[in-house]
Amino acid sequence: MSDLQTYLERITRRVCKDGGVILSTGGADSTTLAYAFKHLGMPFNMFFFDYGHGGAKQQWELVQIHASLLGVPMYRHVWDTSLAIANWSVLKGVDFPELKYDKKEDFWETYGWVEGRNIFMNSYAALYAAAKGFAEIYVGLSKDDRCMPTDQNKEFFEGMNKAFKWGFLNKSKGMKVIWPMIEFELWEIIHLGKLLGLDFDLTSSCDRADVPGCGKCHNCNVRVTRFYKYERKKG
Ligand SMILES: [Zn+2]
Repeated sequence: MSDLQTYLERITRRVCKDGGVILSTGGADSTTLAYAFKHLGMPFNMFFFDYGHGGAKQQWELVQIHASLLGVPMYRHVWDTSLAIANWSVLKGVDFPELKYDKKEDFWETYGWVEGRNIFMNSYAALYAAAKGFAEIYVGLSKDDRCMPTDQNKEFFEGMNKAFKWGFLNKSKGMKVIWPMIEFELWEIIHLGKLLGLDFDLTSSCDRADVPGCGKCHNCNVRVTRFYKYERKKG
């Protein structure tokens, strides 16, 4: 297991010293990143995107708690979803073997997929960052995020960067989305968060809006697995 210093060096290699905006969801990854930036003395703001998803209210409360604990500015953008298509059937044809449909619990109803959501999330986060004089936005993507929905994988963010290259030209410093923890395994992010004193009971990615989680939905299953793995590594 790495020590705190090594973890932080792995992060600083990937970010500029001027800091930026963390896309904050109230989950373990983006919150750990915020604590790491604070520890490093990096300037940053926290940005929350409400796209009408199941856990939005609770997640925004968590982001506010951590922004307040860390003493950093936060911002919430509420997306007008009147044109949004929120239908899990759009995922048909995409291979998500880890997702199951629980008819009794009506699993999919709470699964937070909305068409186009992360295109808009990144765009609004970038606008906010530019308005605050930053040139980078950060996502809590890790090495283990291969099974994520398609708008959370590395290829998606590389595509956003191509758009930013042409969309932020003269009047700001430019814009990039960066994934500082891409070399981390999920359990390592838990380890780093614990080394930084993050209370993981104040984080959640639950599709059902439970804090810290319902323990049943897909995101909670991923969460439980990574905590097990962390405990095993810790020995
Ligand atoms: Zn859950």
